[in-house]
Amino acid sequence: MTFAVSVAALHKRYPNVHALRGIDLDIHQGEFFGLLGPNGAGKSTLINVLAGLVKPSSGSAAVLGHDVQRDYRAARLSLGVVPQELLYDPFFRVREMLLLQAGYFGLGRSSHAWVDELMERLHLSDKAEASLQSLSGGMKRRVLIAQALVHRPPVIVLDEPTAGVDVALRQGLWQLTRELHREGHTIILTTHYLEEAESLCDRIAVLAKGSIAALDRQSALIARHPWRIAQLSLTHEQALPAALQVHVLRRDARRVLLRVARSADAEAHLCALVQQVGLADLALQIREPTLEEVFIELLDASARAAEVTA
Ligand code: ADP
Repeated sequence: MTFAVSVAALHKRYPNVHALRGIDLDIHQGEFFGLLGPNGAGKSTLINVLAGLVKPSSGSAAVLGHDVQRDYRAARLSLGVVPQELLYDPFFRVREMLLLQAGYFGLGRSSHAWVDELMERLHLSDKAEASLQSLSGGMKRRVLIAQALVHRPPVIVLDEPTAGVDVALRQGLWQLTRELHREGHTIILTTHYLEEAESLCDRIAVLAKGSIAALDRQSALIARHPWRIAQLSLTHEQALPAALQVHVLRRDARRVLLRVARSADAEAHLCALVQQVGLADLALQIREPTLEEVFIELLDASARAAEVTA
């Protein structure tokens, strides 16, 4: 089986930072994959290795079976990275830049029809002759996407595509991304908006300090999480007794979120504690954690583990 992306024992050491610490990761063709992690986790370094922009210190990486170093051209042709910023001369016009980009990939006149279709799908057609510098932030973002898709790459990486983007463009972006996914493209998404990852991605890797802290389907990540979340609604801003205090995850005014272990006993114990302080069972609702809650705890756990080994 050929993976869309296959990374094995990948390390990247910068002079002062060990940015990737032995990454093993296979992404299937046709997956919608989320690559999550806080700033500095190594996401961009990993993407740049896949794009051939950063040389690994050791280990290997391949896109659709093409090694990113030995078989750079084929790997690069298989991958489209939507970067965060335009790398082109601001005086270029939109269509002109896209055709130039197609030429860079060795595509000739045959690419013109696709470039025009791409501009159509991204609602860029009426900006075809506009200079890049005259575009609004949202329009620039569309151009970045078109630029990454010019060579119809089977594997598409979207690096923080919705950072600083308004709601309408964000929805347009997700519609296009879903279409591309339906058409068979593999999508790899990095985002800080966990609700986006939650609604779009099949599997998720959480990167922390250059290592994979978790990798699974999001439903499995949530189900494997040791805690469920109990939400307690108070009638007024009362203090909680110490027995309940130890369970508190977050509190804002009258809404308290508590951790509860995944067992009937633990839930019954919590209900009893809540009753003891004179709060009816009705005020307590127990639910699964959101992806964001799992993510935050995973990062805390990985930070604690790093402190122990430091
Ligand atoms: P992320 O994309 O998850 O925010 P990065 O891959 O950008 O993380 O960074 C991972 C680590 O590598 C950070 O500590 C960052 O400072 C460091 N780093 C990234 N690029 C370079 C570079 N060119 N030279 C030195 N250190 C770098």
